[in-house]
Amino acid sequence: MKSGSKASKREQGEATRIIQSTLRHPENGQPLHTGPVFAAPFFAAGDPAETLYTYGRSHNPTWTEVELAIGRLEVDPGHEPAGVRLFGSGLAAVAAVFGGVLRPGDKIVMAGDAYFAARQLLHEQFAPIGVKIVEVGAAEMILADTLANARLVWIETPANPTLEITDVRAVVQLAHAAGALVAVDNTTATPLGQRPLQLGADFSVCSDSKAMCGHSDLLLGHVAVRDPEWLAKIDRYRTLQGAIAGPMEAWLLLRSLGTLPLRLARISDNALHIAQFFQGRPEVMEVLYPGLPEHPGHAIAANQMRYFGPVLGFVLKGKSAAEQFLARATLVTEATSFGGLSTMAERRARWGHDRIRAGFVRMSAGCEDLEDLLDDFAQALDGLG
Ligand SMILES: *Cc1c(COP(=O)(O)O)cnc(C)c1O
Repeated sequence: MKSGSKASKREQGEATRIIQSTLRHPENGQPLHTGPVFAAPFFAAGDPAETLYTYGRSHNPTWTEVELAIGRLEVDPGHEPAGVRLFGSGLAAVAAVFGGVLRPGDKIVMAGDAYFAARQLLHEQFAPIGVKIVEVGAAEMILADTLANARLVWIETPANPTLEITDVRAVVQLAHAAGALVAVDNTTATPLGQRPLQLGADFSVCSDSKAMCGHSDLLLGHVAVRDPEWLAKIDRYRTLQGAIAGPMEAWLLLRSLGTLPLRLARISDNALHIAQFFQGRPEVMEVLYPGLPEHPGHAIAANQMRYFGPVLGFVLKGKSAAEQFLARATLVTEATSFGGLSTMAERRARWGHDRIRAGFVRMSAGCEDLEDLLDDFAQALDGLG
């Protein structure tokens, strides 16, 4: 290719793109990053159509900055950025898609192992007003019969906590042929690890409380779409429903996005090595991580993911073995989240809302030194009852 021709111009790498997207337009004497903008009303005299910013429940300049940065993160280099709306939590983002799309009589096909609160929201609030909920496994999801007459198909891949993998392209193809919309809850992967919109989905939904923020200290979520009409509907739903983000949290997310490439590479690498370590231990009955070649969804995951992410699962003999492991491991914070800097784990069945075994431990690999983690896990497993 001729040098200087457009085709030969190399696309910027992901880290460069992301870091650039968090910087403000250069202006002498101004900071590199704008701080959070705190406002309930904004000065807005005369025709309200003249400014986007009139009242803080509708729009906020700090949200806009985050939304533009995430919009670029949701697509591959060289593609038109996605439209994004930020919410006060991941579940608020999930609710905006349900509420924006589903009407009485509609059918939603949902992964039966999708995030429990999303399922509960559907059963408690949408089923009573006539939304039909069909819960299926990843394999049934790619059957035309399952998808017939559906309005919305809800995928979560890798699923939390089962780590089951769904083939997004295959579901999109069948769902679109059946006239259904497809949404992917992309929380476990993040839009850097997997790009649902590039795989053909209509909605990419993410809890930014996990690896996107990465510091275990705030709750946020977002919805990304390509279609401007859907963006307008999601925007309207947010304004009317009011599940908005605080400007401080939004700004902290923008700040965290710059380190996402570093963090996601490190936690995914640690997660794979931890999974391999557990595979070699007799106390561990089963290890689930999409990055392992033995994982049933590995080939599909490798085809649609760019990082396998922080979350792994492993099964110990039972409740007591899992509890002992968590009590003995000194570098593991027992907490119910993932994607943070520190390694976290929990015996997931303690909540009672997922279809998993009593000895199932969900672990989120952190950014610590791998050797320290493996030493700690080794001593925690030694002589486990
Ligand atoms: C945590 C989580 C959510 C909900 O997000 P919040 O920010 O806690 O409201 C939704 N989906 C998945 C897969 C999650 O892990």
